[in-house]
Amino acid sequence: MITLPLKGGCQCGQLRYEINALPQTLYCCHCTECQAQSASAFGTSLRCDGASVKLSGEAKSFRRDKGRSTEVECLFCPYCGSRVLHRRDSSSVDCSIKGGSLDDKHGMEPVGHIWTRSKQGWVELPDETLQFETQPEDGYVELIAAFSKRYGP
Ligand SMILES: [Zn+2]
Ligand SMILES: [Zn+2]
Repeated sequence: MITLPLKGGCQCGQLRYEINALPQTLYCCHCTECQAQSASAFGTSLRCDGASVKLSGEAKSFRRDKGRSTEVECLFCPYCGSRVLHRRDSSSVDCSIKGGSLDDKHGMEPVGHIWTRSKQGWVELPDETLQFETQPEDGYVELIAAFSKRYGP
């Protein structure tokens, strides 16, 4: 059971967001970009409809893969540096909230793991979650269906 709006923000509390619709899915990404971005073992992505996310406070952005088809705008707090959101651009239908930035860090569990090919060896994944060696070919259909089954209305 997810209570809306979901709220969260950066580590210092200056950059905040509210999510006003049920997210599409929550998964962990073990790609080397997410390892570098999180400065940890993996990234956690809460994929949402961009129109349902309301940001407040000051954000700076960094463009990953600039000029390539995989280009992503990455928003972060200019004061504490926490990465909070990834999206294609400001008009994006899909955006990805960094899961660790949620105020309630125990309300949802990831339904899958992607890019397990580059996963850290000590990270053990539960058998019952979806796993993909690289980017899911089906455009997240299975991850979205699994999340909806677990947390949907
Ligand atoms: Zn901050
Ligand atoms: Zn990744």
